[in-house]
Amino acid sequence: MCGIVGYLGPKPALPVVVEGLKRLEYRGYDSAGVAVVRDGRLGVHKSAGRIHVLEQSLDLNAEEGHLAIAHTRWATHGAPNDVNAHPHIDASGRIALVHNGIIENYQALRKYLTQQGITLVSETDTECLVQMIGLRYRGDIEQAVREVLLDIDGTYGIAVICKDEPDVLVAARKGSPLIVGVGKDEFILASDASAILAHTSHVIYLSDGEIVRITPQGVRTTTLNALPVTKELEEIEWTLEQIELGGHEHYMAKEIFEQPEALRNCMRGRVDGKHGTVHLGGLAEHWRELTRARRIVLTGCGTAWHAALVGEYLFEELARVPTETEYASEFRYRNPIIEDGTVVVAISQSGETLDTYAALREAKQRGALSLGVVNVVGSTIARETDAGVYLHVGPEIGVASTKAFSGQVTVMAMIAAALGRRKHMSQPSMELFLSALSEVPDKMQRILEQADLCREVAQRFHERDNWLYLGRGYNYPVALEGALKLKEISYIHAEGLPAAEVKHGPLALIEEGMPVVFIAPNGFQYDKIVSNIMEVKSRGGHVIAVATEGNREIARLAEQVIYVPDIIDPLQPLLTVVPLQLIAFHAAVLRGCNVDKPRNLAKSVTVE
Ligand code: GLU
Repeated sequence: MCGIVGYLGPKPALPVVVEGLKRLEYRGYDSAGVAVVRDGRLGVHKSAGRIHVLEQSLDLNAEEGHLAIAHTRWATHGAPNDVNAHPHIDASGRIALVHNGIIENYQALRKYLTQQGITLVSETDTECLVQMIGLRYRGDIEQAVREVLLDIDGTYGIAVICKDEPDVLVAARKGSPLIVGVGKDEFILASDASAILAHTSHVIYLSDGEIVRITPQGVRTTTLNALPVTKELEEIEWTLEQIELGGHEHYMAKEIFEQPEALRNCMRGRVDGKHGTVHLGGLAEHWRELTRARRIVLTGCGTAWHAALVGEYLFEELARVPTETEYASEFRYRNPIIEDGTVVVAISQSGETLDTYAALREAKQRGALSLGVVNVVGSTIARETDAGVYLHVGPEIGVASTKAFSGQVTVMAMIAAALGRRKHMSQPSMELFLSALSEVPDKMQRILEQADLCREVAQRFHERDNWLYLGRGYNYPVALEGALKLKEISYIHAEGLPAAEVKHGPLALIEEGMPVVFIAPNGFQYDKIVSNIMEVKSRGGHVIAVATEGNREIARLAEQVIYVPDIIDPLQPLLTVVPLQLIAFHAAVLRGCNVDKPRNLAKSVTVE
């Protein structure tokens, strides 16, 4: 998921790859490392933390090798420490490898390697790759890589070097990008064009299932089965900044648009649609306790608290365990009741949110089993909880959280379903639920294709200073989240409410032309929400509806309708939140606000 750089050419390779890593810093990472071949030796340096920490341990000028690979890691398997950082080397010390992605069958491979007498030194999924390559190596590194990749499940972008072949750089990809920059007598391999642009704009884009062998004579591309592939040399036309933002003007837009891919990564290796099962390695040792849980408390702040609220509905419906959602800042000082059988789940993108951390500590002290639902691997909350499930949605840079919200909801859906299945859910119901969950990324994609419609809504109403967001059931937390997004980045005052609550007070606010967003997909509360729409409409509110594709009726009631694909009620938030993120984003842009760094806010809130 993070960064790879490789170099083969006449220049000293080390400074080139370290410079390349710095260009990838914007993607976020937790450790970095390099491997260089020089005078028949393989030098490997790696360390947790920032690239400049790594640089301090390197003598960039002394290491005169002309072949090197480098990596910034965004840990998925194993804590972000020096040992787990890439490159990894094989047991013979000849071969070094860097990897982006997740090897799904790593447990089977680890077992096999152990049986072969190999001691694995790291906790990563990646190390299996290099150890397998080491086992198969017979003097041709490309051949060894090819043989091993045929046995790999999962995703990878890899770069591999061997000290016995100082003129060969091998790379391959499946589901994780790799590009070869072709300069004058030199080659720069990278997972992202920004690391290449300083050297050349001529590139070869690798496709899934391809291997490249880069030598001073040129680049040879083949399929995994060794069939030759003819590749075009293409020209990069983007500027550096455009690349970092993936073609978007703001990180928030990039993160909204990458949600389908982020959720695929979140579910990868976990949701097994074929067998109707969910594998959550982080909870493996705690299912006994979890199935006996008498009460679940979900805690977080801001967007994470909204995700928790969706989680409350999911846990109660799927797992039938009484569940409450608590603001972490309230919970920590409230003298909370924690009885035997209470499970506390701390939800935080950064894993550093101080209030959430304090709530977690309070819960632990009182004897609760504590779980973390966190994005940043190795963060404080991730380390302090008894167990947990990482989001794996990649680094989130925009201050207003988007893909972390959908990741949090997805993780809670997986946990709730896995727990439900262990208690009372039948296998056919589980299969239905998981097949609906697996369809979310494609359905989300369809919503993103209508981004222009959301922009129209923002265009029409961005000058109004008060908005309401209303939803029921699973979409009540979505209403809260939609309102929060608008507040955070466009500074428009907005309130989210359960739709039926309006008549108990807030209806007094409605005046001619006030934008009121109804989250009203088909489902068991649909008819109820239509009545709420009528109440608002008859008082002059301008209704903007998020509804299910094919619902013509609502087009007669609302000023504007944004359609989302049909999906079972518990998973609706993953779809209905997307138009609300887009509306908030466009409103902020139209009002000239700093979308990625809204005033007064910080990405990770480490103060009370
Ligand atoms: N799964 C690998 C690890 O945890 C690679 C992570 C990455 O893509 O940076 O080490």
